[in-house]
Amino acid sequence: MDLSFILNELGEDREHYFNAIAPPIMQTSNFAFRKVSDMRARFEDEYSGFLYSRGLNPTVDILRTKLAALDGAEDCLVFNSGASAIFASVLANVKSGDHIVSVQKPYTWAQKMFDVILPRFGVTTTYIDGTKIENFEHAILPNTTLIYLESPNSWEFAIQDLKAVAELAKSEGIITICDNSYCSPLYQKPINYGIDLVLQSASKYISGHSDTVAGVLSGSASMMKKIFDSEYLNAGIGITPFNAWLLIRGLRTLQARLERITITTSKVISFLKNHPRVESVCFPLDPTFPQYELAHSQMTGACGLMSLYLKVEKIEQVVQFCENLKHILMAVSWGGHESLIIPRCASVKPEDYDVSNKDHRMLRLYVGLEEPQYLIDDMNQALNNI
Ligand SMILES: *Cc1c(COP(=O)(O)O)cnc(C)c1O
Repeated sequence: MDLSFILNELGEDREHYFNAIAPPIMQTSNFAFRKVSDMRARFEDEYSGFLYSRGLNPTVDILRTKLAALDGAEDCLVFNSGASAIFASVLANVKSGDHIVSVQKPYTWAQKMFDVILPRFGVTTTYIDGTKIENFEHAILPNTTLIYLESPNSWEFAIQDLKAVAELAKSEGIITICDNSYCSPLYQKPINYGIDLVLQSASKYISGHSDTVAGVLSGSASMMKKIFDSEYLNAGIGITPFNAWLLIRGLRTLQARLERITITTSKVISFLKNHPRVESVCFPLDPTFPQYELAHSQMTGACGLMSLYLKVEKIEQVVQFCENLKHILMAVSWGGHESLIIPRCASVKPEDYDVSNKDHRMLRLYVGLEEPQYLIDDMNQALNNI
């Protein structure tokens, strides 16, 4: 299916709403029936149509159709956050006594689910270095039901061989989930490699404007129905019609934004690699990246998120660099119009600062939609004044 068709037309039925170009926000909690038999049928299967907006909603359905097509999946559900997409996809696939194999350092709230919530219900997790397929083979136990991936992850960009992991999991009857927030479905399609469930935080590139928190989960029609009938309806974690509308709007420009960010990112990387205050840059599609070959083979792009290590004598200089920036904002998240930075040392107490620890000199940079030179000038003055 053409990308332009998905972003501009798929799922939209303008004749149903006065041929308006922009779809309506169906801001309603409930839907009326004329016949008892129709109402009964909907009670029996809420996934078959509109009943109540905690379940299905027409504006959300337009978005679901587009996002499932982008992922190359049969179906998808859209959640009120990426974290709830993680929560629902994991919860739906474990029961007491089960075991999960997860990549090390997954997204914070995936890890908290594995470490804090699931052990209370007798579900255990083993973390592995996912860069080697043998580590998955060794970690699988007779009670392993789920393999949790994040490729690349969002600080060091460690990558898993998605095809190899999917094959291994299938041979053992294990479900695979992959967090695809880094690439977005434009630049990586885990379903095509045999992964069962793919999720992303739509708060990042899909929204694209730093004004919405949402998450997407795609997979087979039967798995989506199973999750809808249980976790989705029970926890009430679906996206609201207004936020769905914002994401439809974000999708219109997704490709254009990502292409622009990709070009700016390569300019920013060349600048950083040549600055004496920068020790190294970590970016999956940079030839110096340790897993460059694999990244290149399964991702068609990498967009704007990278890490850099400063060459400094004191951690205070890292702090100074961040505080010297005049335009690049210090904030969490990424994927919006604005460039952002997070210093790793913001998670370290000042008394524990250790300049010999490379991690303490690490910064995560997100390149947004500004002019490349505007960003380079800002970083240049900030680096030259530390
Ligand atoms: C942001 C993020 C999430 C969580 O998404 P929210 O929309 O913030 O709940 C999950 N995974 C990754 C890799 C993320 O960057």
